[in-house]
Amino acid sequence: MISVVVPCYNEQEALPAFYEEYKKMTSQIPSETFELLLVNDGSKDNTLEVMMDLAARDSEVKYISFSRNFGKEGAIFAGLENSSGDYVVMMDADLQDPPSMLPEMYRAVTEEGYDSVATRRVTRKGEPPIRSFFARRFYSIINRISDTEIVDGARDYRLMNRKFVDALLSLGEYNRFSKGLFGWVGFKTKWLEYENVERVAGETKWSFWKLFAYAIEGIVAFSTAPLQVSALLGVIMSFIAFVAIIFIVVRKLVCGDPVAGWASLASIIVFVGGIQMFFIGVLGEYLAKAYLEIKDRPKYIIDKKNF
Ligand code: UDP
Ligand code: MG
Repeated sequence: MISVVVPCYNEQEALPAFYEEYKKMTSQIPSETFELLLVNDGSKDNTLEVMMDLAARDSEVKYISFSRNFGKEGAIFAGLENSSGDYVVMMDADLQDPPSMLPEMYRAVTEEGYDSVATRRVTRKGEPPIRSFFARRFYSIINRISDTEIVDGARDYRLMNRKFVDALLSLGEYNRFSKGLFGWVGFKTKWLEYENVERVAGETKWSFWKLFAYAIEGIVAFSTAPLQVSALLGVIMSFIAFVAIIFIVVRKLVCGDPVAGWASLASIIVFVGGIQMFFIGVLGEYLAKAYLEIKDRPKYIIDKKNF
């Protein structure tokens, strides 16, 4: 059996179109049975009603509804945890992850011996240029400072076998950055590429700042380099200060020339103060994440489900 997990947040317009495409796709893999696991991530529109309606018509459709919006990562985790298929595929509700690719993905895990098949989009057509620019910067930075490879343009659209899913579930962290976790667990992964598709209906749930915060989360979750940078910078600045002290003392002894001006002094103090504040902030970011982990709260809370 293949479980198709779909996180949905305010997708009342996209969901019926998705269901239609999904049905077309499942008929192309007649050798498997399917379960469609819809996760309602606290939608404020009629997404849950649409889900219940689909479930009433089709016994293959299961739904889980959260008590509030927990974010896509929570919805992904809930989907994986509640899936029962031998294979699980994650897919967005807006048809930006074309279900038509699934037969090819399925062949890769059943015939070519892969544990998972991932997808990446090779273009960012239809996306605001400034967003693409920052996305590219993010991937180049994180890949330089993290041991886990995080592929540029990778989607969460992925087919996994049970072994892979269980490995993901064994990572119990609260701050989940799936794009990194997928790479972290390892196994044999095949990459398929496709051109960006624009969403079929509704609108994106990600504002620029939400994405920015998500990028910071990814960096904090997969690298401790920012902490090391602060230590390194401390060493460099101490060294410079040491050389400067010797220079000033020698100049005073040789030339008898006192140091003039408080302006230079004030700017140095402010500069150093700024750097210190910045790195206290960096430290705080890691501490805050550790604090959230230690509380060990559930990643989602279920309000309703039909199985
Ligand atoms: N999503 C979710 N919870 C959220 C935000 C998004 O479950 O808090 C779902 C959304 O319904 C969609 C998928 O995650 O199925 C991807 O969201 P979206 O299409 O808005 O992101 P984009 O494709 O623009 O990156
Ligand atoms: Mg989308």
